Amino acid sequence: RIYKAKGRPSDNPMIVHIARASDIGQLTPMLSPQIVEIIDNFWPGPLTLVMKAKEIIPPVTRGGLGTAALRMPDNPVAAALIKASGTPIAAPSANLSGRPSPTDFESVFNDMDGRIEMILDGGNADVGIESTVIDVTDPKKILMLRPGGMPREILEKTLGTCLEVPDSQSKKRSPGTRYRHYAPDIPVIIYKRGEKFPDLDLRNAAYAGINEPEFKIAKKIKKY
Ligand code: AMP
Ligand code: MG
Repeated sequence: RIYKAKGRPSDNPMIVHIARASDIGQLTPMLSPQIVEIIDNFWPGPLTLVMKAKEIIPPVTRGGLGTAALRMPDNPVAAALIKASGTPIAAPSANLSGRPSPTDFESVFNDMDGRIEMILDGGNADVGIESTVIDVTDPKKILMLRPGGMPREILEKTLGTCLEVPDSQSKKRSPGTRYRHYAPDIPVIIYKRGEKFPDLDLRNAAYAGINEPEFKIAKKIKKY
């Protein structure tokens, strides 16, 4: 039903969310000191670990893979929902597949109204981008499958090792990289200060960025 509601390809697996670090033992056999250290440092938070899966995780959730993506979210409403349900929850972002991940109630409503039965409003997202996904199935070679809210530099410093980029073989283990993602339905222009600015009607434009642009744009989306 999640795949149907999102229009998500059925071989793109979902992240399984838990509310207590101790819940991880039922989902994966991989509880080495290295994994425990990662969890102690980064959970709850925007870091997803791809690990060997136990059979209890249904194949449909894993996209048929032998691995599962596991995470402990930091949002108190999400944590309360998982605790109250008494089971780990497979939960992707509440957007249509391919569209940007929502960060507030309104964006969820715009994408999903009529496709899901209810929306539980946990407030605006703190991070605003996807979780960082790392593959820890090989302890000697940790792979960065998707950049996200947990910066690479902080992970590498804590782990004392470089995160490797998946080669084409291991890319197969990262189904999410095969699909078009996070596409807004309006034109987006990347602009660097000092470059010639394209000819646009700025009265209907909005910007997202670190610095105010040097020309007048009607709306600011968000200051990062
Ligand atoms: P999202 O679609 O934002 O919920 O993020 C889930 C991401 O984790 C997608 O890029 C998935 O392809 C990826 N993912 C989930 N499970 C696995 C897995 N078992 N192995 C590799 N990547 C996974
Ligand atoms: Mg998503």
